[in-house]
Amino acid sequence: MAHSSRTRRRFLQLAGSGTVLSLAGCLGGGGSQETETTTTEEMTEEEHEEELPEGVSEEEFERGPVPEEYRTALSQANEERDPDRLLAKPDVQFQEADAAFEAGLAVEGTNCGNCAEYIPDKNGDGFGACAKVEGYVDPEDWCVLWESIEEAEAEAEQTAEGDGEDHEEELPEGVSEEEFERGPVPEAYRTALSQANEERDPDRLFTKEEVQFQEADDAVAAGFADEGSDCGNCAEYIPDKNGDGFGACAKVEGYIDPEDWCVVWESIEDAEAEQES
Ligand code: SF4
Ligand code: SF4
Repeated sequence: MAHSSRTRRRFLQLAGSGTVLSLAGCLGGGGSQETETTTTEEMTEEEHEEELPEGVSEEEFERGPVPEEYRTALSQANEERDPDRLLAKPDVQFQEADAAFEAGLAVEGTNCGNCAEYIPDKNGDGFGACAKVEGYVDPEDWCVLWESIEEAEAEAEQTAEGDGEDHEEELPEGVSEEEFERGPVPEAYRTALSQANEERDPDRLFTKEEVQFQEADDAVAAGFADEGSDCGNCAEYIPDKNGDGFGACAKVEGYIDPEDWCVVWESIEDAEAEQES
């Protein structure tokens, strides 16, 4: 598969994601000669011609829908794909695995092809799909949701066994564990605007599990989150409206502590810049 054409996809995704825009510099250096002799627009048009699966538009490639056989398929760790609950590639820093490794984001050797969420190629076009992310997925790509198949299987076993007591002391009054995690949130939040003016749609939210929701401190310690990033300074956060110390999120279900974090985290400035562009 032509390296130059994969570069194109990454460029598009990065253009929508301020967090990893710096990678674009690396791409220029490692890219083809064409990058120096043609405009970006010309280059990108050409590169895609040769790479998209036959009859698939750029938009379809990035956002789906994927072919029918993938739409509700099981991933290689047996997670069922739900086409109504997928993350956009820019939201998960989707990019080539090599680039993610060079940028210090990915562990060497990790890529979609060995990720728990990957749904391998079913029609011989070289692309698969993902149980969590929209569009066509190259096994040599990567995103921040990457998880080993072994870990996913161990987690599935743990969930089956159940956990569930450590919330007792901190749930808002009258709110059950289930409501805290899955909602519904109080009426004041249900269709509220986030702090970057994104409207919450209660029918299109991710579960906390899907976005690796956790305490921000833990996410920093594990190398997932940048120091200082948490729900409280995320574009999607809807701050506390009733004095219970919890807010909500325009993308994720349930009550949200401003000191938590998830992989969708985005700075308010980046989100506002995206809205303007
Ligand atoms: S790395 Fe990301 S995009 Fe790739 S298969 Fe895993 S979850 Fe999906
Ligand atoms: S970090 Fe995740 S859960 Fe927290 S506000 Fe942002 S998108 Fe929502």
